[in-house]
Amino acid sequence: ECVVYWMRMEDMRVEDNTALHKASERAKELGLPLIALYVLSPGDYKIHDRSARKIDFMLRNLNHLKTKLHDLNIPLHITSYPKRLSIPRKLVNETFPFLGANHIFVNIEYEVDELNRDIATVKLGREKGIDVRCFHDRLVVPPGRVKSQAGKPMSVFSPWQRAWAKLLEKEPQLLNLSPLPQANDAAIRQNQRFAKLFEDQIPDSLEGFECTDKETMAEVWPEGTERAKEVLDRFLHTKARKSQIQLTSPLNPGAEPSSKESRVQAYQTGRNLVDGDNSSRLSPYLVSGVISARMVLNEAKKLGKGGNLESGRDTGLGMWVQEVSWRDFYNHVMSTWPRVSMGRPFLEKFADVQWEVNEEHLQAWKDGKTGFPIVDAAMRACNKRGWMENRVRMVSASFLVKSLMLDWRLGEKYFMECFIDGDLAANNGGWQWVASTGTDPQPYFRIFNTLTQSEKCDPNGDYIRYWVPELRHLKGKAVHDPSHHMPLNEFKKLGYPAPIVDHKRSRERALFRYKNVGEKE
Ligand code: FAD
Repeated sequence: ECVVYWMRMEDMRVEDNTALHKASERAKELGLPLIALYVLSPGDYKIHDRSARKIDFMLRNLNHLKTKLHDLNIPLHITSYPKRLSIPRKLVNETFPFLGANHIFVNIEYEVDELNRDIATVKLGREKGIDVRCFHDRLVVPPGRVKSQAGKPMSVFSPWQRAWAKLLEKEPQLLNLSPLPQANDAAIRQNQRFAKLFEDQIPDSLEGFECTDKETMAEVWPEGTERAKEVLDRFLHTKARKSQIQLTSPLNPGAEPSSKESRVQAYQTGRNLVDGDNSSRLSPYLVSGVISARMVLNEAKKLGKGGNLESGRDTGLGMWVQEVSWRDFYNHVMSTWPRVSMGRPFLEKFADVQWEVNEEHLQAWKDGKTGFPIVDAAMRACNKRGWMENRVRMVSASFLVKSLMLDWRLGEKYFMECFIDGDLAANNGGWQWVASTGTDPQPYFRIFNTLTQSEKCDPNGDYIRYWVPELRHLKGKAVHDPSHHMPLNEFKKLGYPAPIVDHKRSRERALFRYKNVGEKE
């Protein structure tokens, strides 16, 4: 017999891991060995548009964790169920009996399909006398805890965020970290069956998810909680530097500091600039749970006035904490209004916006060949690095939706397929924000001006010059809008595409389509 901790894709750590800690307590109480179980399910990954990069990151982290678990005397058993719908039955009828496991501990995943899978596993388990226990772990504040004074769920971020911060003041224990699992006793090694699990191999890659830039990804986004802590430490304690536009790890020391302030102190202005090293770059680590949001906020708290958690727009630190709370917010939205994770808009009145069907435009956007330099730089960065700065995620997404008038779900899917930090709740929240179909109270007629955004977020054009080499030699403002800054014959020599849409006309088209939603032009 044994106790099983069923590890999830967002659970890639041993520190501050609720289900793992609870499982270890239970194992101790019952005097049973503790086994970690990981179920590879390519069918799930496919249907949820997981990128090859994210799968590769998961496998790298799993390999790293296997050693950590081994040191704690916890064997990691890997199994693979390609057909996603069969998982609960296979687990309850095959894997749990094979391990002799009657006590299963898991952290909850809030996406609809995953919740349904877990409910089915709990029910089937109950029929067979297997106790499956589920825990909140992913978020700082579990979904459903932040409510209006009238006890209703809140859909607008600012009041929700104030209530989130207040709740943390009232219940600071929400930030408590779970202790490390206790080392299991040697019984596990004496049991031949369990000892053999230590030899389970983690595959190097999964069929259908071959990561073609594996080495670059491993260099830019190194695996392991230790690395995630270093990334955090660098953000909280070191000075901003200019060099990080490049395709290098967030841990690369880079050039001389370009600011006297630490990166987090400079975050208020820095977060909207893409020409440097201005945000934490923790998203791949947070999304895969290599580090927990509680661990992150505990470190932020140490820098707050009086050791309190600062949250608000007055300081860089407070603003950053607020950004971290967006992660909780979008998970709360997804759990409360599950339609958003089923491809439907939060604001259902926008379900029938008339979208263009234009494969050429979609491909140009994906390839970074739209003729709008900031959009192209962002998309090429996305294709090469699997990651984009928040501001250019907004600019390039807005361009797809409001300028090309292409369905936001096409962009949502492409980001998921490219990003190493692809996350249903945050990505969907971001796209619905941009498409004006989400929880944001701003009306649909807020349409980003791509050129103005470009000049604001990349004032010297360094980001564009790095990612769009055709424009590397352009000086001054021409880099933001080359076709309007030079004669046609000179522009043609650049080998860079002319703009694929006219900004003014496309803006009018978007306004019309949104205003007359459901009607044909
Ligand atoms: P920082 O600015 O240092 O923020 C710290 C952390 O706070 C982030 O790592 C992230 O966990 C969280 N955070 C910050 N902003 C947001 C936000 N708006 N929504 C949710 N969490 C946030 N984020 C993802 O993690 N995965 C995605 O797939 C994703 N897709 C996006 C798609 C669009 C269209 C947009 C507009 C935003 C998307 N975001 C996504 C949110 C945000 O852009 C990234 O979290 C951020 O750029 C990551 O960089 P960072 O770690 O340096 O962030």
